Amino acid sequence: MATLTSTIAVERIKKSRIDEVDFNNLEFGKYISDHMLVVDYDNGQWGNPSIVPFGEMRMTPAILSLHYGQAVFEGMKAFKMKNGDINIFRPHKHLSRFNKSLDRMCMPTISEEMWLSSLQALIETDQQWIPDGEGSSLYIRPLMFATESRLGVKVSDQYKFVILTCPVGPYQAKPYRLKVEDHYVRTAEGGTGFAKCAGNYGGAFYPTQIARQEGFDQILWTDHKEHRYIDEVGMMNVMFVLNGNLVTPQLSTAILDGVTRDSILTLAKEIPTFKVEERRIALDEIEQGFIKGTLTEAFGAGTAAVVAPIAVINIRGKDYQIPVAGPTSFQQQVKKKLHNLRMGLEPDQYRWNFIVKG
Ligand SMILES: *Cc1c(COP(=O)(O)O)cnc(C)c1O
Repeated sequence: MATLTSTIAVERIKKSRIDEVDFNNLEFGKYISDHMLVVDYDNGQWGNPSIVPFGEMRMTPAILSLHYGQAVFEGMKAFKMKNGDINIFRPHKHLSRFNKSLDRMCMPTISEEMWLSSLQALIETDQQWIPDGEGSSLYIRPLMFATESRLGVKVSDQYKFVILTCPVGPYQAKPYRLKVEDHYVRTAEGGTGFAKCAGNYGGAFYPTQIARQEGFDQILWTDHKEHRYIDEVGMMNVMFVLNGNLVTPQLSTAILDGVTRDSILTLAKEIPTFKVEERRIALDEIEQGFIKGTLTEAFGAGTAAVVAPIAVINIRGKDYQIPVAGPTSFQQQVKKKLHNLRMGLEPDQYRWNFIVKG
């Protein structure tokens, strides 16, 4: 049980909006919970976080984040456990990534104390927003952006750190059709691909829209130099079962260090007969895997979906089909394992669960 004594001021909403939520049909990101956490950075230091009703903020159109892109976010989840406790999943790992992203964008970092007490206070305040249906959770969106109001190109001296939450249901999208991108790039080695900064996503919209018009759901990004090696998918890391081994691209400055990726790799290592490989993956190797039938699974890994099955990969204009992943597939098994661990149905041997009072 977390023992942070939070001194965060809470201004409660006058009338909750929770009755407007259709908990049986939770579209991702549609309903934002009653409250948000806000804290400002100025004169080289953070002020005191406070919790206020979710709503508009007054800012000028000259704030630097809108012009020069100093904006970084995170995405994590809280679960209602079987015993009624609330579990925030791997907040320390999310903080370390958040701080790496912030460093890359010349933005001030967040202390562990502020991060944990802010999350805890906000989740406690809006705990009735955490859905408890199978596979449901409260999605948590921490966000920081530059708020200094002036037009010169410079590193901002002022920032806002905000945390929003929204209830989300089980992931139900149909298996993905992916297009291997061989023209556009999301990022390059040495760029900002490893950071969860806003510009990476805006820049990916255009090539993704082209892929959608061609009948695909998402792009499978490849390296920027030769388009020969696989990086990741849209907002997920990508994994394959190839020759009976779990294979995923090794991390680089062009790949987001996914918490789900890390959790799945850790859990996969518990299966003694199963080899886990983090390495460069050539497109040719994946194509050969299809031709020889040695590629048996492909899926995306990310907080929103946990595991998102892939049905088709289009390589150089040719569609390759992947068999539907059944209940004994690696992806289904590991998804179940992760679910059980987070709901408190299996021992939390890696100390991934951060328990907030229920
Ligand atoms: C957030 C994200 C992921 C997945 O990371 P998780 O921590 O597992 O949610 C993968 N790739 C990109 C580009 C992302 O933005």
